[in-house]
Amino acid sequence: MNIYENDRDGLLKQAVEHWGQGAQVDMMIEEMSELTKALCKTRRAHSTEAMAKAVANVLEEMADVQIVLDQMKLIFGSPAEIETRKLERLAERLGKGGGTDGQEETKTTRSA
Ligand SMILES: [Mg+2]
Repeated sequence: MNIYENDRDGLLKQAVEHWGQGAQVDMMIEEMSELTKALCKTRRAHSTEAMAKAVANVLEEMADVQIVLDQMKLIFGSPAEIETRKLERLAERLGKGGGTDGQEETKTTRSA
């Protein structure tokens, strides 16, 4: 357990209060962009060493995105109910909710 685990939300709230909501929204955009770039680099890694470096960078940017995304939940509210609905729909699409068996789904119709 790290020192922030006990009051993770308190720390994130403090960050929003310190830098302001607008700055943290800008940071969200920036971090998503960095993750996008890191993911693209995994597609262009053509050696074991390059892939290891690219994956390490993806993990770094995933952590950045998660930290700022959790701040977005403090600013805009929790999407937990929406997430549950979407996960239920995903389960249906994968044939786990009594819906289609997922075979009708194509890449072009797929969404989160
Ligand atoms: Mg970053």
